[in-house]
Amino acid sequence: MIVVLKKNATEADLHTLSEEIEKRGYQVHLSRGVERTLVGCIGAPEKDKDLLADQFAAFPFVEDVVRILKPYKIVNREFQPERSQIRIGNVVVGGDALVIMAGPCSVESREQLLETAHGAKAAGAHILRGGAFKPSTSPYSFHGLGEEGLKLLAEARAATGLPIITEVMDTRDVELVARYADCLQVGTRNMANFSLLRELGEVRKPVMLKRGMSATLEEWLQAAEYIASRGNYEIILCERGIRTFEPYTRNTFDISAIPACRELSHLPIVADPSHATGKRTLVPAVVKAAIAAGADGVMVEVHSRPERALKDGPQALTLIEFAQLMRDLEPFAAAAGRPLKQGEAETE
Ligand code: PEP
Ligand code: MN
Repeated sequence: MIVVLKKNATEADLHTLSEEIEKRGYQVHLSRGVERTLVGCIGAPEKDKDLLADQFAAFPFVEDVVRILKPYKIVNREFQPERSQIRIGNVVVGGDALVIMAGPCSVESREQLLETAHGAKAAGAHILRGGAFKPSTSPYSFHGLGEEGLKLLAEARAATGLPIITEVMDTRDVELVARYADCLQVGTRNMANFSLLRELGEVRKPVMLKRGMSATLEEWLQAAEYIASRGNYEIILCERGIRTFEPYTRNTFDISAIPACRELSHLPIVADPSHATGKRTLVPAVVKAAIAAGADGVMVEVHSRPERALKDGPQALTLIEFAQLMRDLEPFAAAAGRPLKQGEAETE
């Protein structure tokens, strides 16, 4: 449930309430808005909630006690009406400006990564993506360079100034990946890996949580809640397409997931048209559609030589195509009221 404090509530009042919640064995989650401070009381069993609500409402500094009926609480827009802004390095996701994440599916070599990173940066990308630990449907395909790939990403960050996002697949690698990455990505195949989500809740780095390929919005938001419930609120959602009966595209991009998530949650949401379509010719149109639907940014696979890519070559834009896309995006971004250039890092 959410306890809404009165406007004139003091820090001491907040402390009193937090103690009351914790004494009962429940978790306190804070949302400090411009108007009001909201205190989430998480973990109370259903049967105790009526009594608890009455007890909290009895404090003179409490304005209201509201029950959140949805199974996700902390990431629910009811808990925090203002949209969250998540900082990745010096880039803000969920602010006014759109965020463009670009880079190869996998880190393959120093030359490949640096060439792609420099090209992406020159075209206007804000964040460099690249997988060092790759999930693969086949056990025989390329699984990434591991720590060597993370080192190359760190080198590319130093060379370009772009913050880096990379996937973590295993609880045993969380600490290692967090040491190098500015943002940790959870892939579609791991959205429901609850031990990984719990582990990421302990990390103090942003996490981008991709939607499971067969997950409902409610399952996806509960996966985000796993991370938030451990105290890491730095979460970005990523719609990357879902499984349908249509084989022409790799997945089916669920455009309505974007406005739906904006209604349901305060977390920023970005779109990944590369994995959604699986075809480079379709990527630009879906990028534009996602921006029109309210996405806070996009993640696009770009490769300096897609014909030599070890993974996902057919969906990778060449550097020339990516640069063209960035130019074409300008009027779309302007029409959506979202600048394409990050200003000075915004504060909340
Ligand atoms: C990726 O981003 O390279 C990736 C494997 O994506 P997904 O988990 O969406 O398939
Ligand atoms: Mn890929």
